[in-house]
Amino acid sequence: MAALIDLHCHSTISDGLLPPEELVAHAAARGVKVLGLTDHDDLGGLAIAREAAKRYGIAFVNGVEISVTWKRRTLHIVGLKVDADNPALKNALAGVRDARDGRAREIAAGLAKVGIADAYEGAKSFAKQSIMTRSHFAQFLVQAGHAKNVKTVFKKYLVKGKPGFVEHQWMSLEEAVTLIKQSGGFAVIAHPGRYDLGFVNMHLLMHEFRGYGGDAIEVVTGSHTPPQYDQFAKIAHRFSLKASQGSDYHGPGLSYMEMGYLPDLPHGCVPVWQDWEEARLLNA
Ligand code: AMP
Ligand code: MN
Ligand code: MN
Ligand code: MN
Repeated sequence: MAALIDLHCHSTISDGLLPPEELVAHAAARGVKVLGLTDHDDLGGLAIAREAAKRYGIAFVNGVEISVTWKRRTLHIVGLKVDADNPALKNALAGVRDARDGRAREIAAGLAKVGIADAYEGAKSFAKQSIMTRSHFAQFLVQAGHAKNVKTVFKKYLVKGKPGFVEHQWMSLEEAVTLIKQSGGFAVIAHPGRYDLGFVNMHLLMHEFRGYGGDAIEVVTGSHTPPQYDQFAKIAHRFSLKASQGSDYHGPGLSYMEMGYLPDLPHGCVPVWQDWEEARLLNA
C-alpha cells in the first residue's frame, strides 16, 4: 500500500538524472499512484510533470525541497501542494538559485586549490540548464577520475572540511516554512535522520518547526534505516506532527532507494496526505 505514494524525488530541473516526464513514466512503471516532485529550490518541473502524470493516470502533487540554514547546519524542508504561481515563493527561490551560482564558483575555486581545474565548467556540463548542486560536482569529479563513485567523492571532496565545501547561508527555517504555508502548502522536514543533530537539537528543531506552522516530518525515506522509521514515528507523535514518505529518488545509480519500494509508515503515524484529494484512493 505505502509504496503507492512517493512524495520526494528529483528530476533534471535540479540534480536528478531523468527529465520530469521520464521521471513520471518511471514512477508509473514502478506502480506509484500518487507522486510528488520535489526538486531543490525550483518549481520549474511541476507543470510538465503534472501533464505527464495525467497521461499515466497518476495523481500528482506539487513539491519543492528548500535548502535552509539552521544553527549553522543545512537542513532540507519539503513543501507539498504548494502553489507554483505564488509570487513570494517564486521570488525567494529565484534568489536561492542565483546564490547557488556564486557558491558553485567558490566550490570550483576550492577544488582548483588542490589541483582540480575547470570544475565549474565540468559541473555545468552535468547541470546543463538546471541549478548547480554538489551532485553535479560529484558527477564531474567521478568522470575526471578523482574517485570511483559519487558516494566516495562526497566524502573526499564535498563535505565539511574538504576542499570543495563552502559554508553557505541558505534561507532561514522560519522563512522556508512561512513561504510554504503562505503558498497553501504543507511543510515537511526532509530526512531528519541525516542531520546528526543529537537529542537536544533534534527536539529543539521539532519544537521550532511546529511553532512556525510546520506540518510533518519524513518518517519513511530512502535516507533512513528501518530503526529510524520507528524513531521518527515516535518523534512525530510526540510533537503532534504528521508523517510523510518518499524515496528521494535521483535516478539510476544516484539513489539510495528505487521508487515503488517504500515500506508502510509505522503504526500510529498520521499521514500528511490524510485529507488530500490526490490520495483519496489510498485513504479509502
Ligand atoms: P547541494 O544542495 O548543492 O548542497 O547538493 C546536495 C545534494 O547532494 C543532495 O540533495 C544529494 O542529492 C547530494 N548529496 C549530498 N550528500 C551526499 C552524499 N554523501 N552522497 C551522495 N549524494 C549526496
Ligand atoms: Mn539532491
Ligand atoms: Mn535532501
Ligand atoms: Mn531530495
